[in-house]
Amino acid sequence: MRSVFRISALCIALLLVATPVLAAKKVRWKLAMTWSSTLTPFATAPLTLAKMVEEMSGGNFVIRVEGSEKHKAALGILDMTKGGQYEMGHSASYYWKGKDIATVFFCTVPFGMNADEQNGWFYHGGGMELMQKTYDKFKVLSFPGGNTGVQMGGWFQKEINSLDDLKGLKMRIPGLAGEVFAKLGVNVTNIPSGELYTSLDRGTIDALEWVGPAMDIKMGFHKIAPYYYTGWHEPATELQFLINKRAYDKLPPEYQAMLTTAMKAVTADLYTDNFAGSVDAWDKMKTEYPNIVVKTFPPEVLQAMKKAADELYSEYAAKDESFKEVFESQKAYMKKARIWTNISEYNYIKTSQELTQ
Ligand code: CA
Repeated sequence: MRSVFRISALCIALLLVATPVLAAKKVRWKLAMTWSSTLTPFATAPLTLAKMVEEMSGGNFVIRVEGSEKHKAALGILDMTKGGQYEMGHSASYYWKGKDIATVFFCTVPFGMNADEQNGWFYHGGGMELMQKTYDKFKVLSFPGGNTGVQMGGWFQKEINSLDDLKGLKMRIPGLAGEVFAKLGVNVTNIPSGELYTSLDRGTIDALEWVGPAMDIKMGFHKIAPYYYTGWHEPATELQFLINKRAYDKLPPEYQAMLTTAMKAVTADLYTDNFAGSVDAWDKMKTEYPNIVVKTFPPEVLQAMKKAADELYSEYAAKDESFKEVFESQKAYMKKARIWTNISEYNYIKTSQELTQ
């Protein structure tokens, strides 16, 4: 009896010793993107993430990435990740403003922080904690998923010289920015990306915003609209990785570490890829279509946008406690960070520019 016990104990001990080797657990996940698989550099981030994780795990942790052309639910990513049909998603937090208005702050907001300031807030100013607090109720984890930097204000068929020029203008513009424009009399619509070119070309809409040169060039808007306005509405659009919490909790710790490391790597890459892509795309656009005019909205219009945005922030903060909490956190961080941005980046660009003129 005693020897049987000893043998069993030995077996268990051997099993425990052997566990790390046996623990090369096979995990198969699926990730759904809001974008199509060819919409680079957005789609590049999840595709590279999957490759990294597979390599780091010696082929044991495999994530199959599906674009919108496959799942046909571009704006269903949060629901599908929450429901577990997909363990992961890649999207943008402001698409969920109908579920929780506070989610807009984890993407970008009109007249908000730039990418450097926002990254400072995310990683060193309490942003990550507030984001997770907001997403806890959906039982998903949320992580930054790559930043576009300042987005362009959009393509317009006509110049905007006064507030009157905005009245009745038909424009595609999502998020809080759409609500700002609606306050100023713009007829705001949201049209699926696949129909944008035709809508602008046929005059169904008079203007639209998309991202910036790197991504706009693929849409061809520069061929059909002459005015390219500078940005105010999406100063630091951060994309988002979503993870089903139950699925994440079931992962071995080393796979969790691979995943979080890979997410951070591709998030940094997207920022660089989009910046470099815009440098080249703008150069190409301007060479091939020299009549494109870059414009900035007149001060009167920008002032009205700022006032409308501030009103919106106050209205939402008055009726939504979590909106108020995140808004105040961002506002306080931005106030502090902008002083440094002005002293460093802004001052450098401004003074060196003056020297070369
Ligand atoms: Ca946009």
